[in-house]
Amino acid sequence: MRPFGETIFAEMSRLAAETGSVNLGQGFPDTDGPSSLLEAAARHIREGVNQYPPGPGRPELRSAVADDRKRRYGIDLDPDTEVYITVGATGGIASAVLGLIEAGDEVVVFEPMYDSYAAVIALAGGVRRSVTLRPDAGAGGRFTFDPAELRAAVGPRTRMIIVNTPHNPTGTVFTRDELAAVAEVCRDNDLIALTDEVYEHLLFDGAEHHPLATLPGMAERTLAVSSVGKTFSVTAWKTGWVMGPEPLVRAARTVNQFLTFTANGALQLAVADALRGEGAWVQRQRDALQAKRDRLCAGLRSAGLEVLRPQGTYFVITDIRALGYSDGIELARSLPRTAGVAAVPAQVLYDNPEEGRHLVRFAFCKRDDVLDTAVERLVAAF
Ligand code: PMP
Ligand code: GLN
Repeated sequence: MRPFGETIFAEMSRLAAETGSVNLGQGFPDTDGPSSLLEAAARHIREGVNQYPPGPGRPELRSAVADDRKRRYGIDLDPDTEVYITVGATGGIASAVLGLIEAGDEVVVFEPMYDSYAAVIALAGGVRRSVTLRPDAGAGGRFTFDPAELRAAVGPRTRMIIVNTPHNPTGTVFTRDELAAVAEVCRDNDLIALTDEVYEHLLFDGAEHHPLATLPGMAERTLAVSSVGKTFSVTAWKTGWVMGPEPLVRAARTVNQFLTFTANGALQLAVADALRGEGAWVQRQRDALQAKRDRLCAGLRSAGLEVLRPQGTYFVITDIRALGYSDGIELARSLPRTAGVAAVPAQVLYDNPEEGRHLVRFAFCKRDDVLDTAVERLVAAF
């Protein structure tokens, strides 16, 4: 694990705290989720839900997850054998990769990628093959991939592909056509797909989230992961779930028994209710985030950055070359001191650092006054 060191999110949050910076680095909201959710968790704790839940998670949450998946996407899941609860999506991704990847197996990932993928693939002894997402100038800078590069990344040792949509850090929401290209590669090469759908609700301008499992021939080979943190603005709750066919779920669940055994109990009960009853809150949150996206994008542009506008998540990628900078790591490490703003250099999320050297990510899941302060500081510093 030597190459992995401290995560970029931890480093930038630490720098932000040390310098009193506005933290647009690590992605976490600065307002809480629905009060019914918070109250329910407190009530369950007071009422004695304080001992180990069953290993695979509370049945109330497993069935709420299965019902939610059915209602929104038409996917059928048996809550007893095809859903289990993990310590965040991170726990689900780790158990899936450790359970399904043998040493020497190859895993295809899209870069830039969420940092835990590389680390857990390494823990499993797997080998990464990355396919680069690049901004398409014709599509307003939306990041996408070349299907020929995807096909070329797959070889005889490839066992899995990890697909994150809506995508952190680019904000791309994969279209059905893009997913169809992924599905074809999976079917042709008998691959398992691991989908990271933690931003499934954070969509703008009418963009739609399509789970890869809904494409032909994919349900039987897809393990999907999601979690509560982004949907309900409670990133500290670390409650996630893995969904898919029983044999794949079993492999991951077996590992999970020994990673964490189980996850929190009272929070699971609260989340189960929120999944059933807080749809209107999620819709309002999505609208609010879209306005925040527009606010920060306009501000970053006024500071001189080129903005690659996201369709989902709560991140926006900027190209710093517009301001004459070339190295995002250097800039992100100095910004807290020089401007009082923290951001994340996208370069560290690439296997091919040259592809992302000039890209810096800002999070917009913050109060409007916080976003405005960050923009004022950036305008002054640039
Ligand atoms: N996947 C992606 C793409 C993420 O951005 C995050 C962010 N934290 C996670 C997984 C982890 O989610 P959780 O906090 O539920 O572990
Ligand atoms: N997902 C969040 C981000 O991308 C942070 C997660 C973390 O700190 N590990 O900023």
